[in-house]
Amino acid sequence: MSETSIRVRFAPSPTGMFHVGGARSALFNWALAQQTPEGRFVLRIEDTDAARNKPEWTEGIISALAWLGISEADPHFEGPYFQSAYADKHKETAERLYSGGKAYYCDCTREQVQERRGNPHLGYDGFCRDRGLEPGAGRALRFRVPGGGPTVVDDKIRGRVEFDHDNIEDFVIARADGSPLFVLANVVDDVEMGVNEVIRGEEHLSNTPKQQLLWEALGHTPPVWAHLPVIVNEKRQKLSKRRDKVALESYQDEGYLPEAMVNYLMLLGWAPGEDREIMPWEQMQPLFDISDVNSSSAFFDEKKLRAFNGEYIRALDADEFVERCRPYLAPDRTPWPADAFDEKAFRAVAPLAQSRIAVLSEIVPNVDFLFLDEPVFDEKSWNKAMKPGVGEEMLSAALERFSDPGQVWEAEALKTALEEVGQAQGLKLGKAQAPVRVAVTGRTVGLPLFESLELLGRDRVRARLKAALERVRAEQEREQADASAG
Ligand code: GLU
Repeated sequence: MSETSIRVRFAPSPTGMFHVGGARSALFNWALAQQTPEGRFVLRIEDTDAARNKPEWTEGIISALAWLGISEADPHFEGPYFQSAYADKHKETAERLYSGGKAYYCDCTREQVQERRGNPHLGYDGFCRDRGLEPGAGRALRFRVPGGGPTVVDDKIRGRVEFDHDNIEDFVIARADGSPLFVLANVVDDVEMGVNEVIRGEEHLSNTPKQQLLWEALGHTPPVWAHLPVIVNEKRQKLSKRRDKVALESYQDEGYLPEAMVNYLMLLGWAPGEDREIMPWEQMQPLFDISDVNSSSAFFDEKKLRAFNGEYIRALDADEFVERCRPYLAPDRTPWPADAFDEKAFRAVAPLAQSRIAVLSEIVPNVDFLFLDEPVFDEKSWNKAMKPGVGEEMLSAALERFSDPGQVWEAEALKTALEEVGQAQGLKLGKAQAPVRVAVTGRTVGLPLFESLELLGRDRVRARLKAALERVRAEQEREQADASAG
């Protein structure tokens, strides 16, 4: 490692689903690590909160990062390290701070502190600073915040942020049971792992002066800091896992492409300039500069993300698109009988779907009509398309026309045929095709109708028109019976 090589880290706590905000932090760090051959991205799993950690969340983090392209397959990746493996180092460091007079033991209870201060919002009053307490039961270790100050955090995004030492209490670095607090463990690990730039969410800015003091107390030059702006929803509220869709996994599951997700996440607080937005990672990564990140909150616009994803989907070549759809065609995700799937038919219909879907999971409702015995009817579409005076008339006229053995079974010819059938009913094509579309696909929206009819084939189209016609007639009869009874 040369003097100047950058060592960034991503240090998630495995306490829940992997958040899109975490993904953005990881990507910003990753871009910087990849900019130089010796640059390193250290993955450290901060797993010391045994009560809240679960191994599956650690696995989730590692696989989500890999999905984004951040993995050990790339030489810039280092780790994963597990914070729990450094427990001895944390303890040793706490003891060193104590023996060097930089930390002291304190046996005050929260109630005692509050009573002395008379205000629950005021921090610790330094009561034990000079009591010279030895380590012992019920004694926490506090860092002795030096007099003077302020501590100036030079943040690459926020600029100079001053923290007056009067506002930094002598904070606890190890609990009475000896376990280290986040502020300490995080610094010890960063020192240990040679981290020289810390890029993380804004919520950690308040920890930073304390951590900078710890770096100095341990005799090291603090890292370069950069605190990323919060990510907000359309109501300008900070994204929250209770309210918003924040798990990267749900986007992955819906069929967002990782390259689209990466592209979109990179724009949360940063832009490559010149109004460019859609840009592959290879082009974006060298342009990324942490100092260009905006300090104001970044809006997570799902609509825009969808639009990005649609563009990335359309840019795939046909075979690649088919392969990317594959997981969504698995038997547990599709309504058709497993043996009804027809690879050839799918390959034929795929380009029609590729040009209109925004997320891969939308492939299924667009092509299910090809593999189901009967379409799944959307009742709203049905009621709208099968209105009296249109539904029955169009279905029976189309059925008749399509039963003509001379009818060429090819999209263009089918369109002309239906146009003519519509004209005879006094209907423009748009109106005329709705009942046919619903009869054969179940819905009013979907793939281009005439290509769909061609793919479905004459026999199936006729059978569906016939079945729909019977249903319309039965419904009409029922209505008439109800009307005369009523
Ligand atoms: N484990 C901390 C978190 O997930 C990381 C803090 C940091 O990046 O320094 O919030």
